[in-house]
Amino acid sequence: MAAKILVIEDDNKIINFVTMALKAKGYSILTARNGNEGILSFCTENPDIMLLDLGLPDIDGVEIIKQVRNVSNIPMIIVSAREQDSDKISALDAGANDYVTKPFSMGELMARIRVMERLIERETAHVPESVYKFDCLTVDSEKHRILVDDTEVHLTPIEYKLLLLLIANRGKVVTHSQISKEVWGYGEEGDSKSIRVFMASLRRKIEKDTSSPRFILTEIGVGYRFAEE
Ligand code: CA
Repeated sequence: MAAKILVIEDDNKIINFVTMALKAKGYSILTARNGNEGILSFCTENPDIMLLDLGLPDIDGVEIIKQVRNVSNIPMIIVSAREQDSDKISALDAGANDYVTKPFSMGELMARIRVMERLIERETAHVPESVYKFDCLTVDSEKHRILVDDTEVHLTPIEYKLLLLLIANRGKVVTHSQISKEVWGYGEEGDSKSIRVFMASLRRKIEKDTSSPRFILTEIGVGYRFAEE
């Protein structure tokens, strides 16, 4: 069944453009033109995915992300004109799943929505993913084995945790502070320098061409994204 998407956005042009394009693809669309209306619609209409502008007339988008995350793990994609890394990071750290900067192409937004739909499918399937295969890479988390082209690759425990974290979140950005929290257990201020060091050594082990990575993509200034198959 096609997902029900809530669009919280105060720019009518974008609402019309996005609504038309998504309806044409069979999605059902709810719209809200400010934060309060958006939260009300979220609470009463039970949408599957949320597209959220950060600059709204009444409530800041990041505040909405926090409020929604307190009660729900609905996929949230930020669609915003704010293009500073710090804005992306605060939205992602507050719990948004992904970020699209205006102006954006509908193709890009659709691709991000499809990632969220696959995320929902994985969550509802409840199948423990013990073996993950993508291209030349095989990760067997039950046997703790990583294969590249059927050759076993040995990872350190940190590299292994990093890889599993990125795969679990594949298709979406994982920020530096999310990585340090999940992998090292630190709080807010992760050490992005040591993340870079571990990431470089992980890439040397699993990527065929580290200058043009197939699996682990860099989101400059923000974090990393594992490629979607
Ligand atoms: Ca706006």
